[in-house]
Amino acid sequence: MTQVPPSPPGSTRPALVLKDVTKRYGGVVAACALRLEAEPGELLTLIGPSGCGKSTTLRLVAGLERPDEGTICIADEVVADRRHWQPPERRRVGLVFQDHALFPHLTVAKNIAFGLDKLPRAERSRRVGEVLDMVRLGHLASRYPHELSGGEQQRVALARALAPKPAAVLLDEPFSNLDDNLRTKVRADTVAVLREAGTTAMLVTHDQTEALTVGDRVVVMRDGEIEQADTPERVFESPATRFVASFMGEADFLPARVRNALLTCEIGVVSTVPGWTTGWDVDVVLRPHEVALAVDPDSAARVVAVEYHGAFVLHTVVLGSGSTLRSWQPHAVRHPIGTPVTVSVVPGITPTLLIGDTAVTAPPL
Ligand code: ADP
Repeated sequence: MTQVPPSPPGSTRPALVLKDVTKRYGGVVAACALRLEAEPGELLTLIGPSGCGKSTTLRLVAGLERPDEGTICIADEVVADRRHWQPPERRRVGLVFQDHALFPHLTVAKNIAFGLDKLPRAERSRRVGEVLDMVRLGHLASRYPHELSGGEQQRVALARALAPKPAAVLLDEPFSNLDDNLRTKVRADTVAVLREAGTTAMLVTHDQTEALTVGDRVVVMRDGEIEQADTPERVFESPATRFVASFMGEADFLPARVRNALLTCEIGVVSTVPGWTTGWDVDVVLRPHEVALAVDPDSAARVVAVEYHGAFVLHTVVLGSGSTLRSWQPHAVRHPIGTPVTVSVVPGITPTLLIGDTAVTAPPL
């Protein structure tokens, strides 16, 4: 086993490290120089369009794929680099997939005990009891997988992954086979169990809400690269790129220009930009909850679509220039299609500014 050099006193060592990890399949670069660390107990969500490299990243950590370049460390051990290779069964990672992959001919208890064959018998059954309690399935220990609901099977899969006390749990779209109502509940239960176990986890999802609600940090991937790895709040409120802004929630973009330290666009002054000199051209990112509407017969802007979502109503507005903005309105507000409206930015918002495809917070030098 190759130990990673000790960290300075007082620092926490990451549970998981990917350093410049690249994986190619023929001409396709599925993972490109990935750099990522997870702190002990941290829950990372990986999200991005289909084919962006999420599963490849998970498979590289699990040892189901071998990197072409770079280093992967799990719990202070180098598990893959140019000279080292630990197979999956020696990596101390637990895996949870969407199809649960439980053994149909084994009871719940035996499914969970499967990975504990090195433990003495008494200790094994104690640990099985412990994780069954953790997922609140003690009463179903002697059932077979086909006698369980989808949500219960998912909890057994999680219990099996946690039983050997892994350094990290990797979950690949674990809730996508569950119907909508069940998914929210199973997701909350899973997160609670992972938190209770204190396990570092990496969860792949294609669902933006899931990525934001579950992750301590959200890793947004595109074309094999990490676009942004940040807290859910920062990914949503301060996206690093145009792609992250539009992929993580609804976003519209309006050209804007700096004049006398004010950022002005078609709908008026958007924000103050102290320190910016007159003349800079940027794009301002506006999310529907940041856009206010007021009926105004003199306005050139018109409501062109109204979508009822229950608690909120999404209004789409075309401005005089032809640009489109969307606005969430409260449940009871419904401006009919064709209504002339004045559009403004909700007070207190500091919208993201882009130059080209990159977010900027200060004027370029
Ligand atoms: P995601 O999980 O984000 O949908 P993947 O990691 O599965 O994406 O795939 C990333 C890219 O690598 C895609 O272009 C995919 O076609 C390619 N890829 C994945 N696995 C293989 C494989 N075993 N052989 C060839 N190409 C692959």
